[in-house]
Amino acid sequence: MDNCIFCKIIEQEIPSYKIYEDEAVYAFLDISQVTPGHTLIVPKKHVTDIFSYDEELASQVFARVPKIARALEAAFPDMQGLNIVNNNKELAYQSVFHSHVHLIPRFDQEDDFSIHFSNNFERYTTEELTEIAAKIAKQVK
Ligand code: 5GP
Ligand code: ZN
Repeated sequence: MDNCIFCKIIEQEIPSYKIYEDEAVYAFLDISQVTPGHTLIVPKKHVTDIFSYDEELASQVFARVPKIARALEAAFPDMQGLNIVNNNKELAYQSVFHSHVHLIPRFDQEDDFSIHFSNNFERYTTEELTEIAAKIAKQVK
């Protein structure tokens, strides 16, 4: 797609630090290197975000994630963990609108990545949670 930075990287019009490539995906270092080895896996097909994937594309892209995760683990013996992040739409911190999966190696509690999960369980009744689950479940197609 014109004017898409990741399409240009895939097409080698813009340089990147390539890690892996096959018919479906391209993996390369994220320029920000939140932690050392921070890698992006992108589908070669331009799709904006997760809402545009069909099952075939999803199986191609997400099947490659463990392969690159293991490569990071082998490359960084001091790696203690790995966060896999996929941001969708601006509110959720997506800034490049060609879908991508971040693989962020973790080294210690003071490395430069953080994520916060609140626990709001007590704000809900059993009935409300049942209703929320049913509302979502009936939309699964
Ligand atoms: P998002 O915020 O959309 O989840 O992530 C986009 C990521 O793309 C950011 O982490 C940013 O550092 C990375 N990025 C943006 N432009 C470039 C670029 O030209 N080359 C590389 N390698 N990464 C980029
Ligand atoms: Zn693109």
